[in-house]
Parts: sequence; C-alpha cells; structure tokens
Amino acid sequence: MKERRDCKIVQDLLPNYIEKLTNEETNMYVEEHLKNCNDCQKMLENMKKELNLKTNKRDEREVKYIKKFSNKMKVLKFILLALILIYFIVVGRRTLIMFSLSEKAKENKLYDNYYAKLYSYHGDSLTITESYNKGEDYLTTMTRFVNGNQIQKLTYYKKGNEKLFLTESEGKKYIKDAETIMHASVSPITYLSDGILANIQRAFITGIDFAYCNGKECYVINENSLERYIDKETGLAVREIQKSNKDTIGGTDVIVDFEYKFNTVKESDIIRPDTSDYIVN
Ligand SMILES: [Zn+2]
Repeated sequence: MKERRDCKIVQDLLPNYIEKLTNEETNMYVEEHLKNCNDCQKMLENMKKELNLKTNKRDEREVKYIKKFSNKMKVLKFILLALILIYFIVVGRRTLIMFSLSEKAKENKLYDNYYAKLYSYHGDSLTITESYNKGEDYLTTMTRFVNGNQIQKLTYYKKGNEKLFLTESEGKKYIKDAETIMHASVSPITYLSDGILANIQRAFITGIDFAYCNGKECYVINENSLERYIDKETGLAVREIQKSNKDTIGGTDVIVDFEYKFNTVKESDIIRPDTSDYIVN
C-alpha cells in the first residue's frame, strides 16, 4: 500500500523532476524510489521520450522557419549585390568612355593649326563663328543674323604684332581698341574633364548614350539641362543643346553646332581685313 502511495507521489513529481525543477531533497527521494520501482522507472523513461519528441518537433519547426527566412535574406542579398555590380559596371563603362574621349580631345587641342566653325541657334537668331588659327595668328569672325538678316559682325584679327578688332552693325563700321580683346581665337571644345579620377567622379552622376549627330558617331552626355554630343573620333564637341526652361531667355533651346578641321589653315586664310571704310572708334 505504501508502495502505491509513494508511486503516486513520485509520478506527480516526475514532470518537474525531468525539467530539473525539484530540489535536492526531492531528487533524492525520487531517485531512491526509482531504484526499487520498475513501474515508475518505465514511467520516467516514457515521459523523457515524449518530451524529447516534443522538443525535436519544436526545434524542427524553428529550423524550418529560420531556413526559410535566411533563404529570403540570401535572395535579397543577391539582388542587392547584383544591382550594385550592375551599377559599378555602368559607372565603369561610362568612366572608360569619358576617359578615352578626354584623352583624344587632349591630343586634338594641341594642334596650333586648325579651323573652327560654330553655328549657334537661339530662336530667330543665328550666330556663325568662323576661326582660322595658325600658330599665334588668327582671324575670327562672328556674324549674327536675325530672321536671315545680318545685324552684326565682329572681326578679330591678329598676325605677328598687329591686332585688329572691327565691328559692323546697322551699317556702321568701327575699328575698336584691339587691346581690349584678350584672345579671340576659338579653341576646340570638349566637355570632358582631364584625368581618370575626374571622369570616375563624373561617371557617377552623368548619363552617357550613343547617337549620331551631324553625320558623326557621337556619345551624348546629359547633365541637367545640357545635352552634349561628343565626337567618338576626336573627343570634341559636335553639338550642345541648352534645353529651355522657365529661366531661359526667350524660352527656347540654344543649339550650338561645332565643326573642326586640323592642319588645313594656310597663310592666305589669315589675311588682314580691308578697313578702308571703317571709322576709328
Ligand atoms: Zn513506484
């Protein structure tokens, strides 16, 4: 009878005993009883098995959940890495294009014999600039037309020590003080920075595309409201479009087309303008 009562007590204690929630005295009592009672031993083993099973199931669920979560994270990480990689490839490509163009432009800017022609369109107005350059000498004319009528012409001339600055507008022709003109030759223009670092920096913020412009293969650089076409061969400007916005005068685009010829300027291209009907002003 005592056995049975003890068994009841021990069996009540077993769950706590397994979880190690019982105190030392109780443990001793339980263990003492277990030594001599097969029934309770079996009960203990069964309880332990059941508990293990439960724990395993819970662990499995946790593992599954963590796996699922970490798989999701892996996919996200992969997408993020792929995007970063693509971004760097794009930036790298832009850098290489801009750097190679700027190197070509640098070479072409070294020529001291070149001819430049610029057409600048702005609404009804067209300004044509022509510049012959040979060594230190140059002859540059800027002619402005509005609705097809010539309204102004400026001429800059320098040969040896002689400098001339002529203006012509509304039928009045003046010889101006040529010393006010610093240097009126038109240098070849590029829109690119020198050096790889400057180009890397720029490649992060600047879009670059391929396009044909004025019959030339070009790269287009878009910056803010500026669209700039650069000759693939020379690295020099082919066209610049200043897109109109509410701040632009007249609200129309300004378009400039560029043309360059190298080593074609002859001595006879830079001849002193006839100033016989000009008035000194
Ligand atoms: Zn027992």
